[in-house]
Amino acid sequence: MIKNLTVSVLTTALLLPLTTLAGEKEEALIQQVTDAYGGDAIRNLTSYIISKKMLAPSTGQSRTPQLVNLARTNLHLSVDIENGKARSDSLFASRGGDFQGATVSDGEEGWTINYRANTYGAAQNADVYAFAGGSMRTNDAILAYELYKARDKAKLVGEADYLNRPHEMVEVPFPLSPDITLYIDKESHFISKMIRTNPQLGQLDYVFSNMTEADGIKYAAQTDFFVAGVANLVSLTNRTRFNTDIPDHEFELPEGMEEEAARIDTSEMKANRLSEDVYHVGQGNGFTLFVNSPEGLIAVGGYPGLKDRLSLFRSESGNYQPLKYQIITHHHQDHLGGINEAIDLGATLVTVDDNVEPIRDFVANATDADFLRVNKRITFGEGRNRVEIYDVATIHAAHFLVTYVPSQKLIFIADHLNSPYESGVPTANLNTTTMYEALQALDLDIRKIAIAHGARVFKMKEMQASVEAYSPLVCMADRLVCE
Ligand SMILES: [Zn+2]
Repeated sequence: MIKNLTVSVLTTALLLPLTTLAGEKEEALIQQVTDAYGGDAIRNLTSYIISKKMLAPSTGQSRTPQLVNLARTNLHLSVDIENGKARSDSLFASRGGDFQGATVSDGEEGWTINYRANTYGAAQNADVYAFAGGSMRTNDAILAYELYKARDKAKLVGEADYLNRPHEMVEVPFPLSPDITLYIDKESHFISKMIRTNPQLGQLDYVFSNMTEADGIKYAAQTDFFVAGVANLVSLTNRTRFNTDIPDHEFELPEGMEEEAARIDTSEMKANRLSEDVYHVGQGNGFTLFVNSPEGLIAVGGYPGLKDRLSLFRSESGNYQPLKYQIITHHHQDHLGGINEAIDLGATLVTVDDNVEPIRDFVANATDADFLRVNKRITFGEGRNRVEIYDVATIHAAHFLVTYVPSQKLIFIADHLNSPYESGVPTANLNTTTMYEALQALDLDIRKIAIAHGARVFKMKEMQASVEAYSPLVCMADRLVCE
């Protein structure tokens, strides 16, 4: 007993100076890292501009599960650290069309700009780390700057081999993010890699290579981003400027834009009763249509939280029948998040033959699930309360199941028509126009459209007006993000 105590006292005594040494080790390493990146130029950074073009493989979001589509995204981020001002411009080009947006913060107020709609609204969070933290994390020089800022909290957590080179691993806080772990090359002291964990998505890897220099600061010209090991953003070009003057008008709201209309509040779950047998239930961006058909209860819309929406449907409608069918609108992974819940509830999954294997691959409990395969069209029940399902092809998905409820002259769709606003004509893209063409070809009497991503039930006339107003986006010539 006494012997053990002595050992433990000795160990503690030995560990104490080591702990202090460790803090010094971190300080020395951070000095070496910031020296490698540019010395005082990076330690006393006052401003920076990141301009990059990336490829974005739409894993789990392609038109067919068999071939990944590549979208392109351009980013232009200006940050005036000294004055607390920032602006992030983005241009996203996918098969659905182009979208140009920006978030601007003058240090006090923040706005989001929608160039296609020519509107602006208050930014959800005007803090630059809230709207541009993701872009900052894809730049190793900015990570070196943030490491220096948080040097008192940095912790050496081990050593690792990366690309056959020895690395130190340093864990450090990053504003409005889970802690990040930097892989620092023991010889060059550049950051080769950063990892962090997203509670929903798993491990995120940021990989830096091809060092270059601007304004006396080194940075990686190639920066790639992976989600759970799968390439999510691959940089094509990456130019960064440091400590340059950014004109003040960069951080002002552009003239000639209209303030956006009132937004629909979807923060609480609500049940919208369309008839005794038809309810649109949801919250945030996950909504389900419940239809009491002659062949049993049908749910359409597979976002996570299906059981909660079913509970609300049951208490509001008094209909406690088991869920008989779950219509899977399309194979995109965000729309499969609630399918395990549908399987738990004993529902038969309704999809097309092509999507059965991709669903089995992605949905954990789907191996032994019951599938009903739609060949072009299927009808549940007869008469007024029947429900019809049509397989259509749009630019968004090669197989998309449109649910038609004749008693309501209502369809349910996802990802082809949306608006966060209470009123006004929704802005169309190629998803909208190709879905509209597909609906016209079905020759149904459609008056209303319920969707998976919002509470608003649109009139068919609003979809028509949206499609008529469609024109391809022309990038604003004065914005550098368009170059
Ligand atoms: Zn989709």
